[in-house]
Parts: sequence; C-alpha cells; structure tokens
Amino acid sequence: MQLEIIIGLEIHAQISTQSKMFSAAKNSTHGMAPNTAIDPVSVGHPGALPVPNREAILKGARAAMALGCAVRPKSKFDRKNYFYPDLPFGYQISQFDEPLAENGAVEIVKSDGSRKTIRITRLHLENDAGKLTHIGEHSLLDFNRAGCPLMEIVSEPDIRDAEEARLYAESVQKIVQYADASDADMYRGEMRFDASVSLRPAGEDKLYPRAEIKNLNSFRALESAIKYEIARQREVWEAGNPPSSQQTVGWDDETGATYLLREKESAADYRYFPEPDIPPITFSESELAEIRAQVPELPLARAARLIRDFGLTEQEAVTLTSSRELADYFESAAAVGQDGKKVASWILSELLAKMNEAGLKIAEQKVRPELLGELVQLIISGEISGKIAKDIFPEIWETGKSPKAIVAEKGLKQVSDTGAIEKIIDEMLAANESVVADYRGGKQNAFGFLVGQAMKASRGQANPSLVNALLKKKLG
Ligand code: MN
Repeated sequence: MQLEIIIGLEIHAQISTQSKMFSAAKNSTHGMAPNTAIDPVSVGHPGALPVPNREAILKGARAAMALGCAVRPKSKFDRKNYFYPDLPFGYQISQFDEPLAENGAVEIVKSDGSRKTIRITRLHLENDAGKLTHIGEHSLLDFNRAGCPLMEIVSEPDIRDAEEARLYAESVQKIVQYADASDADMYRGEMRFDASVSLRPAGEDKLYPRAEIKNLNSFRALESAIKYEIARQREVWEAGNPPSSQQTVGWDDETGATYLLREKESAADYRYFPEPDIPPITFSESELAEIRAQVPELPLARAARLIRDFGLTEQEAVTLTSSRELADYFESAAAVGQDGKKVASWILSELLAKMNEAGLKIAEQKVRPELLGELVQLIISGEISGKIAKDIFPEIWETGKSPKAIVAEKGLKQVSDTGAIEKIIDEMLAANESVVADYRGGKQNAFGFLVGQAMKASRGQANPSLVNALLKKKLG
C-alpha cells in the first residue's frame, strides 16, 4: 500500500531572560542545587500572583517575527488545567485561542539541495513545569525549572520524513539563536521537541489519528523516534488495522522504541479559561515596528550574501553562518584581511580545528578577528609565505599576539630580494650537483626537490614564486 507520511512538530524553547516568566526568580539554573532558584510564584504558594516578564514577551515577539510569524496586536494568557506532581498550581499558564503570534514559515535546504517551506501555525508563551527524577521507589522534585519562560512553536503538518523534521528543527534553533531570543542549547534542555506522526493512503486529504512523541531532547532522538514510529504505523496499516485513536507516546533511547503513555486527551479536557490574574498583552503599531527593526539578517539570507559578496562556496557559507557569532567573526576578519575567500579558508581549517581540539567557542578563544585578518593580509602582501603563516598560527592561538609583532620579533619576513634568493639558489645548486644532473637528464620531478631545498635553505622565508622563477632560469 502506498502510504504518505504526515509529521508536525511542536518545539519548546526556553527564552533567554534573567528571570522567570511570571516572577523574579532566576531563569538560568544550570548547575544549581535543586530548589534553590524558586520563589512563592514558582511553587504555587497561596496568594502568589504572576507578573508577566516584559523581556520574555519582547524576545518571544522578536523570535516570532524572525520565524516569519505575524505578532497579534492583542493576545492573552489562559490556564491549562491538569494535575502532575511537578506542576504545583494544578495548571500551566499558557496561551490558547489568542496566541502571541501566528502564520509563520521556515525554509529548509535538503541534502539534495532542494528547498522546502514548512509553515508555522503559531508561537505562544507559557511557563515550564518542574522536574521529576525517579530513583528506585522514590521520586525527587526540583522546581528550579518551574516557571521558566518558554515559547512553543507549532508547525503545520507539512513535514514528510525524519530528515525534513531534523532540518526544520535545526533551522528553528538557528533562527531563535540569531534573534537572541533563546540559547536553545539542547544539552541543557533549553529546546525540546514533540513530534506528531501519522500515515494515510497516498492521495487522501484526510488526517488519521496520530501518535504524539513527547519530549525528544536531541536531534538524533527526533530522527530515530520518527523513523521508528513510521515503521510501527506502517505495519499496523499493512495489517489492515489503521490507528483508531490518538496516542501520546514516549521515546526510549536505550531500547530505540516508542511506548504508550496515554490515549491522548483533547484540548477540551484541559478546561482552558482566561487567566484572571494577567491582563491581555497588547502591541501598538509603533511597538511592533520597533521589534521588527531588531530582527537580524537570518541564516539563509546571510549565507546567500556571503556567497555573493565573498565568492564563498555554499558549504563554506553554511558553516560560517551556523552561528551568528561565527558569521560576525568572519565578516570582521574579512574586513581586515581583504580576501574573504582566504579568510574563510583559514577559519574553516586552522581556527575551527583548534577550537574543536580545545572545546572552545569563537568568543572564548584568543585569535581575535583583527588578528586573523592581519595574518591573511601579511600573506597577500607577500610579507610572509603561507607556510610561515601556518608556522606562527599556534603562537597567535596560544598568546593572542599580533602576527605582525611575531613576524618582526622572529625576523620571519619573506625574502623577495632577487639577489639574496639567487645567492641561496647558487649555494643550493652547488650542494646538489647530482640532482641537477638528473633534472637535466630529463627527470622532471627533480625540480620540485630543488625548490624544496632552496626554501629550506631560506628557512621558509624565500618568496616561493621567485624561487620557482629564478631556479627555472638558472637550470635553463
Ligand atoms: Mn507547551
């Protein structure tokens, strides 16, 4: 049977604010002891009143615009009622029928180079729940995460396979990071995915009951869980017995399988009603314009510009725009180094290799963009050879010292003085008479050896193209 795969994603991303969604307790609690970043609002004490976090709302709105959504002039908060031990209020403050923003779209680039647009239904704000850890017969509660500001980004069911799901999730991650709205660090649980998967006979328009896979916390888990769920549902369909009700399932990384959590409740079961303690959020035209002006150039557009302006390859541009910081670094270095293509290749080979080795981010390492630009400049102007540049790079990396200063200090300036190079070549030829004879006897590759010897005799400082030219002339 020809079956079509239908996938929609809900992405929760933690908004990068100082304090929580509705109180002044600390938002970023990574590494803190359990229950040390809480206050009466986070743990639902009687009489505690929520106060919306302005920064969270503005960052949410900026992320929404970066995702192509329209921010509504008026939105409101609602209570989503359910019981869970990590939810002390007995409800989550979320947004139901009037979300912060709607109708966005994200473009993905597939591995075959083709592009596809995934539509976004809505982006709404809500607070996070606490965290339950089960140890043997005991369950431990940590409320540090309770009340942390989240944006939930809901896609249309436009995704057709696991690869598209991953590409879409990666694009959303980059966009919210570019918008400086979320760090979206997967390792710290700042971004999590729920994937809804269903199948239908090819050609049908109707949607069949889906399985919603909850709380996937890595791109790999997202892809694996979707692939597993597609295979599981395919079997059920092929056995003539398609799913008859919605399911909520979990994903077990160890067994590599999904497992049933519950037959999914519908929105009505949550008894949503307007949050009486928080007035609606409203934006004037000028406030919306102000936020729109803060949306930066986004990854795909920036990559296209780098290709156009600097002659980079697609692959180079995609890597350099993988984070806003790296792209900024490249453009600053290219402004100094003048040759963007050369600067790119230094970043992508030498610099990224060092960073990976040391486990450092671009902002944490010592080779400031001006220094890398200066190094490339020295090569272009012929003051040092590429070989010398590679030799001194580790020192720049270690010390953050200026390449010019290192070259001056060590006397590494490239020799482009014809007389001086001729002298080196004459001495070298005298010491290698048999090789010269071989060359004259027709052994072409002896030439490369002689160039190497001359370069070596100059301690790598002779201008290689001059050495080539002079040596050719002398050997006739
Ligand atoms: Mn949610």
